[in-house]
Amino acid sequence: MEVVKRLILENRAWASETLARDPEGFARLSAGQAPAVLWIGCSDSRVPAELITNAEPGDFFVHRNIANLVVEHDPSLMSVLQYAVEVLKVDNIIVCGHRGCGGVRAALARVPDLPHVDARLDSLRQVYRHHCRELDALPDDDARVERLVELNAVAQVERLAALPLIRQAWDNGRPLQLHAWVYDLHTGLLDQRHSIAPAPASALAA
Ligand SMILES: [Zn+2]
Repeated sequence: MEVVKRLILENRAWASETLARDPEGFARLSAGQAPAVLWIGCSDSRVPAELITNAEPGDFFVHRNIANLVVEHDPSLMSVLQYAVEVLKVDNIIVCGHRGCGGVRAALARVPDLPHVDARLDSLRQVYRHHCRELDALPDDDARVERLVELNAVAQVERLAALPLIRQAWDNGRPLQLHAWVYDLHTGLLDQRHSIAPAPASALAA
């Protein structure tokens, strides 16, 4: 069957099953959203945020791009971030990378035949340059990709923490926490690599 026809049929089945399981669910969701999490993940088709965390519609506000990058001059990322932090008032932002990331692998070399992708990955190459001594000492590109996946997730969370929009939220007393996770395609498991939380008010006052 043609893919798009199958998707529509699957949607009909899903909507019917969901309604049977939770008769008020669609009415509740159509009234508004109050997600507790902004998920910034890779566009990779094998890392669907809600599925791998057993989450439901309404749980996550989501932005995905190649290699889960936080780029301050990216209007798509910044508009999602602003809406999530200032309007939806999420308490957690998760940046989720994944093992075997094609974007991370592509960043190790130039991809001139894909100019949009290549330009996008410049931001990731900055992370590489920052850690080049450690990465260049690894035995091969496979090892470098796996380590850069980890370093990249942490670096993107640190970029978030430096943004005026996030610092303003913390200055306003918001309990916003930032998390760097890595998803393993081989096991289906998430690994928490790093977290940043606002300093306690007592520390800010000192
Ligand atoms: Zn990826």
